[in-house]
Amino acid sequence: MPNKSSDESKQSKRKPGAPKGLSRRSVFNAASLAAIGGAAATGLSWQRVNAQTTKEAPKEVKNEPKKVEEIENFKYDLEKQTHWVGPGGSAKEATVEEFPVSQSIAGVSMRLDPGAIRELHWHALAAEWAYMLEGRCRATVITPEGQADIADFEVGDTWYFPRGHGHVLQCLGPGPCHFLLVFDNGHFSEFGTFSATDWIYNTPPDILARNLGLPAAAFAQFPKKELYIGPGKIPPQSLEAYRNTEIEPGQSNHKYRLDHTPPRTYPGGVEHLVSSKEFPIQTTLTAVKMTLQPGGLREMHWHPHADEWQYYIKGRSRVRVFGSHGRFKEEEFGPGQVAFIKQGYGHYVEQLGNEPTEILILFNSGEYQEISLTNWLGGNPVSILESNFGISRDLINQLPKKEIGIIGRKA
Ligand code: MN
Ligand code: MN
Repeated sequence: MPNKSSDESKQSKRKPGAPKGLSRRSVFNAASLAAIGGAAATGLSWQRVNAQTTKEAPKEVKNEPKKVEEIENFKYDLEKQTHWVGPGGSAKEATVEEFPVSQSIAGVSMRLDPGAIRELHWHALAAEWAYMLEGRCRATVITPEGQADIADFEVGDTWYFPRGHGHVLQCLGPGPCHFLLVFDNGHFSEFGTFSATDWIYNTPPDILARNLGLPAAAFAQFPKKELYIGPGKIPPQSLEAYRNTEIEPGQSNHKYRLDHTPPRTYPGGVEHLVSSKEFPIQTTLTAVKMTLQPGGLREMHWHPHADEWQYYIKGRSRVRVFGSHGRFKEEEFGPGQVAFIKQGYGHYVEQLGNEPTEILILFNSGEYQEISLTNWLGGNPVSILESNFGISRDLINQLPKKEIGIIGRKA
């Protein structure tokens, strides 16, 4: 006799005692059917059992429907926003503030004019990942080991700055640059970004004088508020020396050339993937740049231990999310839009239109995990699938046995 599992106790708020016309055995059959079906714990399975086990007219047995929240909105139009525009550039944010479902990941689309600076700052609550979409920029980073790192980034390059590492960005010109920033915390923005100008302005001048070795009056020349993004001169194109010529150069690279890595190739598209395996410093995020060819279908799958955040660079797709208990939500996405798929939710991505669809995808784990429906079906004996789905062996033998990744256009 099965123990009263938590599944069963949740779904069976039935009245005490089995309904008439049902044997104890069929009650348990029905309970296990409902447990297998999960979402299918409606009156249907009860009625089926009822009809099979009695000659009387089927009795209406009502299982109370589960109270489940509707699937939250999982679409946000990042590039349509105008959050911050100033001399030197602009920034658009997708944090929990704007996009509540996105608790674990936030994104910022930032543009800098030639020479402009995203000032010296750090993030107390989040690590920062970025992908260069346009133009070129230079970044410097300071690490807790007292090491400095400087590198230039071009289209297709990514960086990863661990939480709290101080950094600054500058657009190298000749044109403006555009990059997508992704943070491993949806709340990174509110109280989480600390800027050098803000700190200095809010420190008494006599302390600054003692700490930074200038006369107190000199600090009147510093900015009177947080700079955030500001105009600047295009720096020399070759990397300049650090002020401290003895500082140790960084031992762990912050730069990874995602577009230059060998892709995983599938019938309907390709994926460039970077996790902590390929890029050891990137411990809290995995990134994928996925290109779906026209007609491609990123197959039905889920991620056991990570949320998925998508930014559409080019082209269009339809995403359908399965949220258990018969819940679905479907949205179409195009350039500049963001999708968020919660950990464990089933989903697929169906390419739309005649041009390939390019998506940047982030997971809030340094290790990549995925389970596809096809692989799962391959990992079961035929007889189990026969009983589970009530279909013939012949049909089962036509099902795929292993994962496909991205399915190609319909023949
Ligand atoms: Mn930053
Ligand atoms: Mn996915």
